[in-house]
Amino acid sequence: MKQGVLVTGGTGYIGSHTVVELIEAGYEVIIVDNLSNSEESVIDGIEAITGVRPDFVKADCRDIVALEELFDKGKFNSIIHFAAAKAVGESVEKPLEYYHNNLLSLINIISLMRKYNVPNLVFSSSCTVYGQPDVLPATEQTPRLEAESPYGNTKRISEDIIRDSVKAYGTIKSIALRYFNPIGAHPSALIGELPRGVPNNLLPYVTQTAAGIREVLSIFGDDYNTPDGFCIRDYIDINDLAAAHVAALDRMIGSKMKESYEVFNIGTGRGVSTMEIVKTFEKVNDLNLNYRITGRRAGDIEAMWADPTYANEELGWYARKSLYETLRSAWKWQQRLSGLEISKD
Ligand code: NAD
Ligand code: UDP
Repeated sequence: MKQGVLVTGGTGYIGSHTVVELIEAGYEVIIVDNLSNSEESVIDGIEAITGVRPDFVKADCRDIVALEELFDKGKFNSIIHFAAAKAVGESVEKPLEYYHNNLLSLINIISLMRKYNVPNLVFSSSCTVYGQPDVLPATEQTPRLEAESPYGNTKRISEDIIRDSVKAYGTIKSIALRYFNPIGAHPSALIGELPRGVPNNLLPYVTQTAAGIREVLSIFGDDYNTPDGFCIRDYIDINDLAAAHVAALDRMIGSKMKESYEVFNIGTGRGVSTMEIVKTFEKVNDLNLNYRITGRRAGDIEAMWADPTYANEELGWYARKSLYETLRSAWKWQQRLSGLEISKD
């Protein structure tokens, strides 16, 4: 019989790609999302790619009564919890909304896991918990630093809530995945990222500039202490990131965990500068990007990349896509969104 998985935030960017991977791996998926940052039409894209239409319930994870109806039906024994608000800048302006949404949703999920004896939880954490480490690449042992934003703090507190709950209650196992910088889209260009308003992240700003929606990309700072002076990040293909969730679930369900609470870095292990992204994007998509170099962005860390060895060895998971493929997929998705002719491979 197929294993059931509840995916909260499953119509979002990372959630939707993970649902595709789960369906392709033979899991039965139930999505719950309040559509605060996504659209129900994403389900059509998932169905077009996989041939399977996952169950979808529009509900808010802060609403424990609505969530309990799902648990009551008993169709899953694992949960992947993506649902959260994620805009760093907005979280500084509206901290209570961020703590309320991100923490209450998680607390509701764990409470119901206890009540209904649901054992497995995969949680979306972030490399933001490391801040700017003294030593790179970051391993899972790299100390977590005080968060720079309320959003980052919700990830740190969420990890602690999960760790403490696993320890205290004995019935729950959990894997927290610390994502580095997810970029790109499904190669079919049927699902991808749907940024609302002016994008904060690099890749949607790049693709929107290429599509003429934004006039010029600002590259924030060229005077960092890095080989080319630009900031460095570990850009992980969204499809590779999605596959890491399947590997984590397989590990939990297959009783392969060494501890009841485990943490994995999900990155490529390769640091890439902002200028390298821009130049590679231009090259692989055969276009010129309008950009200018401006001053640093407040709060930016200089350099960050993962040591993914632990995930490679324990999850058997590897980042497989090349930056070339990823930046092609990002542009094809933007072409679809903008109604442009989609480039052929
Ligand atoms: P996203 O906004 O595209 O997806 C999140 C989804 O959760 C959205 O569909 C939204 O409608 C839904 N949601 C939010 N609050 C909800 C609630 N209370 N109840 C039900 N649904 C709710 O974001 P994403 O990029 O796919 O991120 C998914 C998870 O990964 C988040 O927890 C995010 O913090 C984390 N994460 C993201 C990144 C990144 O760069 N995208 C990096 C590290 C961690
Ligand atoms: N960046 C940039 N211009 C933009 C958006 C981002 O130069 O319009 C840079 C940013 O300074 C950082 C990198 O791109 O060095 C990644 O930024 P993003 O916001 O995507 O991720 P994060 O900083 O959260 O890792």
